[in-house]
Amino acid sequence: MDTRAEILHRQAIIVDAHNDSLARMRSKGDPMDFGAVDEPYHCNTARLRESGITALFSYVGSTDLIASLELWQALLRHPEVYPDTYVVARHAADICQAKQDRRIALVGQLESCSCLGKSLGALELFHRLGLRVANLTHGEGLDRHETSLQVDGSVFDYTTADARQAMRREVRGLTEFGRDVVKTCNSLGIIVDLAHANDRTFFDALELSQQPCIFSHGCVFAICPHFRGLMDDQIRALAASGGVMGVAFYHRFIHQEAPSMDRLMDQVEHVVNLVGPEHVGLGSDYDGLPDDAVPIPPHPGRLIEFTEALVRRGFDDDTVTKILGGNFLRVFQEVCG
Ligand SMILES: [Zn+2]
Repeated sequence: MDTRAEILHRQAIIVDAHNDSLARMRSKGDPMDFGAVDEPYHCNTARLRESGITALFSYVGSTDLIASLELWQALLRHPEVYPDTYVVARHAADICQAKQDRRIALVGQLESCSCLGKSLGALELFHRLGLRVANLTHGEGLDRHETSLQVDGSVFDYTTADARQAMRREVRGLTEFGRDVVKTCNSLGIIVDLAHANDRTFFDALELSQQPCIFSHGCVFAICPHFRGLMDDQIRALAASGGVMGVAFYHRFIHQEAPSMDRLMDQVEHVVNLVGPEHVGLGSDYDGLPDDAVPIPPHPGRLIEFTEALVRRGFDDDTVTKILGGNFLRVFQEVCG
């Protein structure tokens, strides 16, 4: 007989809010094709099938425009080559339909808007292609939308709350172009993604955006004091916008000394206790991690372990379903229609 976790997992619309597989395939010189790769990639068609993931927010570019165009081509090709397996989702209804049809809905996600140059027209074209989620930055540095956390990382020790506050006073927030991007995303129906943004940019964008924003992949600073973690005031502000944060499966985002599924659950529980069950989901970052990473769960074929852990942690059915994808789907519906 199926366990409660298995039933919930099978019934849920599962949304993984961040996946880097196509970009990794491109950078390794492999075909950008989920049907053609195997180990050491975390993801391939068989594992994605096994995962039960309904919607995969899929990296289609960051800083390089030509790379982005090639990634778009790879994404859009999937439903043509594998019509029984993949669709490209442009609206929430496409994700719901994919669930019914047992297909995987790919959602175009920029990991940075730097590849746009300073062109809002390019952003509009990407929207036509299917762009529905846009990270403002991947931490490129001073000449882009903001000061990069990575660039500043050598100056500040982000592992203490005090240092994090000091960083907030030093960094620049959203630039003029960044503001234009947020407004254009709002008008086109693209979800603004604040993962990788520095804290000033994070708050600037939330204040400016008329729609909920997301933080697709990262961690909870209170449990794992990593610079890619959200502090409690950020989680509150994101939730107040109606937004959702995705916990990533990267071990260094889970716990500094002893990463485990339980520590990942501590993060989920922390967000639920802080702002309620409507503002947390998963953003695995599969295939976006360093080669020595040990993600938990190790690959999407074992995603059921995440659901089992949610159930073990004592969350009710409704909360488990929201965390698995209901929350990100709600924002997708609200922003993209
Ligand atoms: Zn990332």
